[in-house]
Amino acid sequence: MGRILIIAEQFQGKLKASAGELLSAAQQIGGEVDGAVFGPGSGDAAKELAGYALGKVFAVDCGCEYSGDGFAAAVSDAISAGGYDFVILMQTSTGRDLGARLAARHDGAWINDVIGLEGSGADVVARKPLFAGKVISSVKFSTESLKVLSLRPRNFDALAASGASAPIEQLGGGTQCLASCTVIEPKEAGFIDLKDADIIVSGGRGIGNAEGYSVVRDFATEVGAAMGASRAIVDSGWIDHSYQVGQTGKVVNPQLYIAAGISGAIQHLAGMQTSKVIVAINNSESAPIFRIADYGIVGDMFEVLPELARQIKAARQ
Ligand SMILES: Cc1cc2nc3c(=O)[nH]c(=O)nc-3n(C[C@H](O)[C@H](O)[C@H](O)COP(=O)(O)OP(=O)(O)OC[C@H]3O[C@@H](n4cnc5c(N)ncnc54)[C@H](O)[C@@H]3O)c2cc1C
Repeated sequence: MGRILIIAEQFQGKLKASAGELLSAAQQIGGEVDGAVFGPGSGDAAKELAGYALGKVFAVDCGCEYSGDGFAAAVSDAISAGGYDFVILMQTSTGRDLGARLAARHDGAWINDVIGLEGSGADVVARKPLFAGKVISSVKFSTESLKVLSLRPRNFDALAASGASAPIEQLGGGTQCLASCTVIEPKEAGFIDLKDADIIVSGGRGIGNAEGYSVVRDFATEVGAAMGASRAIVDSGWIDHSYQVGQTGKVVNPQLYIAAGISGAIQHLAGMQTSKVIVAINNSESAPIFRIADYGIVGDMFEVLPELARQIKAARQ
């Protein structure tokens, strides 16, 4: 049996629910599992993480919001000292950055964007999509060194905290960060991260112009959804790139994805087609998005979205 370190994420001291997904993957591989969490709020988040079935938890604080080199240096010593065989983290910008750094530091290997696992221990086989999700590949490790896996969010059933209380160890005090992120501030009040969202509403060129995005924003505010976009409206300068869903944007997997005024190009589908329920709103009944949608509404998004918001609010009361 191997030793596994899961690296969970937190924001402002609150542990992200993806910790349960990391634990689920770790339990499938099998072995002794410890945890780590990074950043200024890591003390509080570590207490939450300690409630999962873990041997111990590292709270890593180098004195900044984020530092790829600093965090990797701080946790690397713990990986060597603890003799970990696997590190598992999320396929987020932080996870991609740290995963690559940790594999390189330990002469190991990194399999990214994992959506499933088969087998266990060193023989585990990871499944990951390629070519914008058109094929699923199976990838295995052939290294005795550190094996790093990053998980595509929401593809593993999240395990709940067990109420246990693992010991917490502080790390990172003396680490010198070469490049440090000092502030992370949400762009908009009530901003919901696309990766964490249960509901996403995305707008495409059907919004007509930059001002048209307000119909998406209003819906998101009413319903408590995260906001996304197609590349067409990002390239037009109507919305920031951080909202883009797709092959060259974010890959998301919410319970409900609403695509409004989006035609359904393969590059957009690559970022959202694993969503549990897909609703498409388009004024052209021949739009390709309807082929993958669970529910299709042929109509003007400027009429449909406000009505849908009204119906959802009424149903919730
Ligand atoms: C290498 C590469 C990478 C790419 N990566 C991405 C990516 O990551 N994400 C991405 O999204 N795209 C990506 N693209 C671009 C992609 O190919 C499409 O061009 C883009 O997704 C189209 O965006 P759209 O659906 O908003 O626009 P369009 O294709 O122009 O579709 C607009 C849709 O809105 C509908 N519509 C118009 N008015 C209304 C209305 N009032 N109400 C309802 N519906 C209306 C129209 O019927 C149409 O179907 C990439 C392309 C390349 C080549």
